[in-house]
Formats: sequence, C-alpha cells, structure tokens
Amino acid sequence: MINNGLNKILVHKYGGSSVSDAKKIANVAKRIASAYEAGFQMVAVCSAMGDTTDDLLDLASQVTTNPQPRELDLLLSTGELVSATLLAMAIAELGHPAISLSGIQAGIHTDEMYGKARIDNIETDRINKELNEGNIVIVAGFQGININDDVTTLGRGGSDTTAVALAAALRADRCEVYTDVDGIYTADPRIAKQARKITHIGYEEMLELACYGAKMHPRSIELGSVYNVPIYVASSFNDDPGTLIDSYVQEQTMENRIKVTGIAYQRNIAKITLRDVPDKPGLAGALFEPLTNDGISVDTIVQNTSADKLTDISFTIDKNDLPATLLTLEKITSVLGSGQLLSEENLAMVSIVGSGMQNTPGYASKMFTILAKGSINIDMITTSEIRISCIISEDKLEDAVQLLHQGFELDRVVN
Ligand code: ASP
Ligand code: MG
Repeated sequence: MINNGLNKILVHKYGGSSVSDAKKIANVAKRIASAYEAGFQMVAVCSAMGDTTDDLLDLASQVTTNPQPRELDLLLSTGELVSATLLAMAIAELGHPAISLSGIQAGIHTDEMYGKARIDNIETDRINKELNEGNIVIVAGFQGININDDVTTLGRGGSDTTAVALAAALRADRCEVYTDVDGIYTADPRIAKQARKITHIGYEEMLELACYGAKMHPRSIELGSVYNVPIYVASSFNDDPGTLIDSYVQEQTMENRIKVTGIAYQRNIAKITLRDVPDKPGLAGALFEPLTNDGISVDTIVQNTSADKLTDISFTIDKNDLPATLLTLEKITSVLGSGQLLSEENLAMVSIVGSGMQNTPGYASKMFTILAKGSINIDMITTSEIRISCIISEDKLEDAVQLLHQGFELDRVVN
C-alpha cells in the first residue's frame, strides 16, 4: 500500500543525551509510543548513546593515528545502530510494533565524502512499506550509503540532518527534534542568565545562529528551509513548549522593531597571519586552494592594504586544524614568496544575529561600543546581511556574550 496521506507522518529525532542509558531509552520509547497512539505514522531518528561517537573516535586513535576514512565511517555508524535497535526493542516492550533500520536500509544515499557526506536522495519505499504495515520505524541517524555501497557518515551532529531530510522525503507534517535543552535561546543560558527561550524563529536567522554556535546541525536548517519542513526543538525530559523554526518573519511595526534576535558564539578558533605576501592576482587562490584540498575550512579572512606591493593576510580556522594548516602552509610559503608565518590560538567568535538589522545602520557600532566598554579587544570582524561577528580572546568570551545580551536588551524583548 502506498502512503495515501490519510495518515499523517511525524518524524521525531532524539539526541545522544536523550538516549544515553536504558532508562532514558525507555522514556524516549514512551514518547514515541504516545505520538503513535495519537494516530501518527511514526518515524524516529536517533543519535548514538551519550558520548559513544567520541569514545569510538578515541578507540580508533588508539589503534592508528591515520585511520582509513572508510573504516572510520563504518566504525562510527555502529553507535547509531546500537541506540536504534535498543529503541525498537523498548517500543516493542510497550506493546507496539517497531522496526529499526540502518541508513542503508532506510534508503539514504549520499555522496562519497567520508566523514562529511551529503545526502543525495532518499528512497522511501522501505520506510513507507513499514509504516503502512503499522510499524513504528526507527532510523539510525548520521549515516548513509555511497555509490560503492559503503557506509558514510554525515559529520558530527549529523542526525539532525538525517531527521529533516527524512521529513522532507516522506512529506511529513513536521520534524520534532528532542534534546537536553528545551529550545533555542537568545543566548546560551549557561552564560547569559537572563537568556529567554525563543518561541518562534525563521529559517534564515536560525541558520546563522546554528552556523555560528547554536546547537543545531546547520545543514538540517538549510534543508528545512529548502523543503519547507517546520522543525520543532524541545526537551525529551519534560513537556515544556520549545522553539518552532519555520518561514516565520518577525512582525515589525514602525517603532517596535526587534533587531537582534540572538547571540551565538564559537570557541576553539585559531588565527593564522601570513606577512609580506606579494600582492598580485592569483595569490589568494594559491594560498587557499591547498587548504581546501586538505579539507580545512577557512572562516574569517582579512587582507590588509598593500604597501610596496606586499600585503598581510590573516584568516581563522578551527583550532583542531591548526597543525595541519601550518604543515600545508610551510610547504607553500616559499612558492608564494611570503614572509613570516604567525599563528595565534585561544580565540573565540561572538556574533549578533537578527534579520531586522538588514539595511539598518548602527548595529555594528553599537556592538563595538558594548565590547569596548567591557575592555574587550576585537581582533577581526565579519558580517553577513543579518549577522555581525567579532573574533576576540577566548578568555573574554563569556563577558562578551553577557554584555551583548544586556546591551541589546534581549532579556526584555518579547517575541
Ligand atoms: N553521533 C553523532 C555525533 O555525536 C551524530 C549525532 O549525534 O547527531 O556527532
Ligand atoms: Mg551526538
């Protein structure tokens, strides 16, 4: 039987901390069962139990410093198989029919990039068949299969993306993401005590918040936006209302415009500076292409005005990529004919995000003034239409988040 749309499909996703032990798995089973009892055809995606993925990575690193990407992906995919199978058993224990599927069985086809594969398409026949037979379908998150029939993984935190992709492919009503926090906040509530839960937010703002620090996998938000899948983020430990992410646009009146929606941050940023680089065409390409080839992603880039046809270029990377970046650059600096290679660790990025900032002057200067009043030095600045980000010293990060949250009165705005 083909799913005729009479029975509504709902996709749930449970993060690692929501399935970290048998008791929590039983709790999640109950939540899925009650949605099933309410009449939904249920598909649930799960992450690996607790810190399983980190533990597997650690095991691999004890065996080799250079694991083959194919083997590493197959290893990491086992974490989600454990939680998915246990969850199916726990649901059966409640008296409902349930079946777990690996990424391959669920028809999730990806490209060939081990460790950060992207989903090409999902063949939904098997899932639809199971749903139409009345089964609750549990899908192991974070994994798929490439053209060679080998298992790939989607990158850390990738189960969110599995869930939203499935919701899109199955034309589900929405995707509900359950985690250990009860929604998206105006800032990390562990740092900004006055942080408020955002009840409703648009894809665009959420994508910037996710890319620049909030807990969701950014690719899941992008997919939600492209396929118009509403995503609801809430806690698996209580029934408090969470955050709805959809095509919401903030209502604005002339005098009451909410400009900054949230503050995001990232730790573990390193900066590289290359001094006295010859200022000629093709230089940036020659510098960044080898890094791209090594899979190192470069974020903020600043190039100074040249003096005597020599310029300085600085850029930021993830601190974990620093050794590999330095190794690559040391090889090419002689080709580039550049001078000193400097690096700095212990940096962080703090960002303000808000679609209301678009075309409105004054937000950047307000941000810089707030940071200056807190004696926080700004190292680099980047912006998008709806975001301003500053690179600062990591030890000032918590102050910066608190001061910006206060300064932009995020504790007071009601959304
Ligand atoms: N288990 C994977 C990770 O920890 C994927 C996920 O949790 O979404 O990154
Ligand atoms: Mg995880």
